[in-house]
Formats: sequence, structure tokens, C-alpha cells
Amino acid sequence: MTCCECRDLYRTFERRSNQYVEARSSALFRVNPQIATRKQVSLLRALSDLREHQEECPWAMVAEHFANSEN
Ligand SMILES: [Zn+2]
Repeated sequence: MTCCECRDLYRTFERRSNQYVEARSSALFRVNPQIATRKQVSLLRALSDLREHQEECPWAMVAEHFANSEN
């Protein structure tokens, strides 16, 4: 990935994904499942931000082009 925005958005997504997994497996989840729900919402938001950016990002298009031509 050459685009720093792609990278940042991807990192945010990854971090939130880890936080969500942690929240789900923590003891607190049993007491307050809403915490995990909130983490899931922000995880999905991070994913849609990434997807939205990649639809417009020339670097993501180039990467996709190469990925497709390899198959
Ligand atoms: Zn990008």
C-alpha cells in the first residue's frame, strides 16, 4: 500500500478490530454487552471509511488492478 491514507485507515480498522475482539472476550462483556456493541459499531465505521476512501483512491485502484491481472 503506497497511499498513507489507506494505511492509516487500515491501521484504525485493525486497531478497532482488536479492541472489539478484546471487548468480546473480557469479563466485562458479560456484565455490559453494550460495550462490545459500541466497539462493533466503531469497527464497522472504520471499515466503511476504508472502503469509501479506496473507491476514490488511485493507489487502491492500481493495487486492485495488479491483484486482478495476477490471477
Ligand atoms: Zn488511499
